[in-house]
Amino acid sequence: MQSLYDSFGRKHDYLRISLTERCNLRCTYCMPEHGVDLSPKDSLMTRDEILAITKVFVGLGVNKVRLTGGEPLVRKDFGEVLASLSKLNIELALTTNGILVDRYTSVFESVGLRSINISLDTLSPNKFFEITRKNDYHKVVSNIDLLLKMGYHIKLNVVVKKGFNDDEIIDFIQWTEKENIHIRFIEFMPFDGNSWNLKELISYKNILEKVREHYGIEKLNDTPNSTAKAFSVKGFKGTFAVISSMTDHFCQSCNRLRLTADGKMKNCLFSKGEVDILTPLRKGEDIEGLIRSCLHQKQYKHGGIQNILKVKKNDSKLSKRSMILIGG
Ligand code: SAM
Ligand code: SF4
Repeated sequence: MQSLYDSFGRKHDYLRISLTERCNLRCTYCMPEHGVDLSPKDSLMTRDEILAITKVFVGLGVNKVRLTGGEPLVRKDFGEVLASLSKLNIELALTTNGILVDRYTSVFESVGLRSINISLDTLSPNKFFEITRKNDYHKVVSNIDLLLKMGYHIKLNVVVKKGFNDDEIIDFIQWTEKENIHIRFIEFMPFDGNSWNLKELISYKNILEKVREHYGIEKLNDTPNSTAKAFSVKGFKGTFAVISSMTDHFCQSCNRLRLTADGKMKNCLFSKGEVDILTPLRKGEDIEGLIRSCLHQKQYKHGGIQNILKVKKNDSKLSKRSMILIGG
């Protein structure tokens, strides 16, 4: 079977599946202020459909699957979905806001899930409420501690916004002194209905400048297809990275495909187009051709947006899906 190549010769072997459109937080950079219109339940992928679609992707060379959302752990049959996918010959990974992690540690262990990214943008409970509109700071932090005690190597996603948490960059780095944790600072990206504002973007270069004011840092090797540029402070146990999606993109080595909770394939986080995979699957039709044609339409960078820094809030160049409905 021919692997999945796009028209720029990029091999695609990594699929990110959104398990749900729902979330127990309301992050302002992700969820529109007035919420989102949820899809009717019968148009969302069932556990069996997720498995069937994933098997087709695996047959086409996909070897890594990340479960995301919305918040993947709010899906009632999350444990069963994870268990069924764990039987495939793939690397499984999870991105979560961490709130429900303690409910699932035994499931993670039983299926051998080791790659867990947790999102936490601030070390202040008050600011946590400001950005997520919920009061769950302590729950998230205690679940991070739980995973660390269990020996997990956690990657922590931190969306950096000027005037909100850029004054905490050093505090996050400080965390890596004694703990084997990997902090990933993410540049703030625009999506439909989010609180995007160019003035609040802190660039990759600015982030590194702030770190260098306090520490001598060294560049680490990045894995192929990595979206993150990794560094460490000499002598610190943990590491950190910057995901410079906006100011220094990594589209040239992109290997990512996306599947939304309602079974639409997207070839890029920023693509406006999407291809319905679920309806044809339900009709018993072959979906391989649809997957290939969706990939063939992939643009070189940023879903075809010429200059992502010039995008305005709710710009028509953006997909009509907010981040929470795309699956980050
Ligand atoms: N609910 C889970 C979580 O928060 O980890 C998974 C889904 S969330 C959409 C996936 C990741 O996307 C999170 O790390 C979140 O911080 C990131 N994200 C969401 N909106 C973003 C934005 N506007 N810019 C940069 N990263 C964003
Ligand atoms: Fe929910 Fe994650 Fe979006 Fe926050 S970033 S609203 S936790 S899906």
